[in-house]
Amino acid sequence: MTLIRYLLVGVVNTLVGLGTIYLAMYFLKMGVVSSNAFGYGVGVMVSFVLNKKWTFNSDAHAVYSFLRYLLVLLVAYVANLQTVLFANSHFDLNPYLSQALGIAPYTAIGFLGSRYFAFRERNGIQPILDQANEARAVKKASLIQRMIELSIVVPCYNEEAVLPETVQRLTELLQFLIAKGKLTSDSCVYYVDDGSRDRTWDLIEELAKTNGFVRGIKLSRNRGHQNALLAGLLTVKGEAVISVDADLQDDLAAIEEMLDDYAVGYDIVYGVRSSRKTDTFFKNFTAIAYYRLLAVMGVEIIYNHADYRLMSRRVIDALKEFGEVNLFLRGIIPQLGFAHSIVYYERAERFAGESKYPLKKMLALAWQGITSFSNVPLQAITHLGLLVSMISFAVTIWAIWVKLFTENALPGWASTVLPIYFLGGIQLLCLGMMGEYLSKIYTETKRRPRFIIEKTTSQDDMSL
Ligand code: UDP
Ligand code: MG
Repeated sequence: MTLIRYLLVGVVNTLVGLGTIYLAMYFLKMGVVSSNAFGYGVGVMVSFVLNKKWTFNSDAHAVYSFLRYLLVLLVAYVANLQTVLFANSHFDLNPYLSQALGIAPYTAIGFLGSRYFAFRERNGIQPILDQANEARAVKKASLIQRMIELSIVVPCYNEEAVLPETVQRLTELLQFLIAKGKLTSDSCVYYVDDGSRDRTWDLIEELAKTNGFVRGIKLSRNRGHQNALLAGLLTVKGEAVISVDADLQDDLAAIEEMLDDYAVGYDIVYGVRSSRKTDTFFKNFTAIAYYRLLAVMGVEIIYNHADYRLMSRRVIDALKEFGEVNLFLRGIIPQLGFAHSIVYYERAERFAGESKYPLKKMLALAWQGITSFSNVPLQAITHLGLLVSMISFAVTIWAIWVKLFTENALPGWASTVLPIYFLGGIQLLCLGMMGEYLSKIYTETKRRPRFIIEKTTSQDDMSL
């Protein structure tokens, strides 16, 4: 349907263009060159507007998509010229036929370029969410304050060096917020021990005895940050849950702001770091490249947001419905929908201990983000396969033609052997990528539990 609309626009474009040239030459008495240029310009404008509004119904930025559209037309035009020239010089066709031949690449490039480049959609639901958020922000001032029952989830893996300080600071924060009337007095912090090999769990148990705000959850073995986090999120009570790392890199002051946003009706509040000053150049660079890549692959993700966020009980309940084993919370949460807002904070250096995210784990998480949420790599295989087949088909025809009609046919070694390697390589690549998804399907179908809780410091206040 889109293609038909595009072709119709092409016809309209041609008619309008020719009509304008005719008008310009005979009524406005313009020169041949200038009236041609004028006609072409009007034609391009008309086809741009029609294609944007009607063919592709696109919400892309008008100026940028117009520039992209011009670029597409330019490329298509060059391809057209080349085809016509090639046809004329090699096949000795009549000019009408070679012109007709040139229309094929012109249309193909024009259509694909318009569809995937010039009029590509902006970030899907983002504009809608932004609007909703603005509307809610207006309500913000007029609401009366209410006490919130908050749970904080802190995943801990070998964190004995920072834990006492973290507990200290979180306890003070809770006391402060309770005194201020923002939290109920049964708000507390859940420390999820992710199978640590040091004294982390012992510390949690000891602190839980003396400190009323400390609760402990111990996983039976190390399952990784994302799973530890999920274990906490799905187990704790509380009408709002905030997740934060144990290492005090995320500014705890943002918690009060998150609560304020929650109080006026936001179900998800993302903590977003305002700068990456404390990160190395390498981490910065790879992070930016990664966000770009995800955007290209169509994965929705909040820029510069890690796992520091507030979620309401409704969001947690929705999250429970997601049964996947390959967990990438940063990708799942935006998919849940709900009204969201953002709180900015400065990210500090790790308070003590060393990072539990070495390069290898970082790469694994990045890969998870792509393969768990995007089918683009899979679709790319199909496209690549199509393209390669078309090219080899064309080359085959060309080879036959050289053989039949010219004297230049060399009994070539390269033309026989190179394609074999070329295709072999591509096939291997494709197989590898398909295997990647297959392995995902394999793990998902097993439906294993994603975490097993060994014990907790108290039973009565958790939904076990
Ligand atoms: N973590 C975890 N399990 C793991 C690795 C990390 O629970 O297997 C926790 C860790 O204790 C910390 C959080 O995940 O609270 C983030 O880890 P880290 O600060 O080391 O990562 P970075 O900030 O360096 O990316
Ligand atoms: Mg950290």
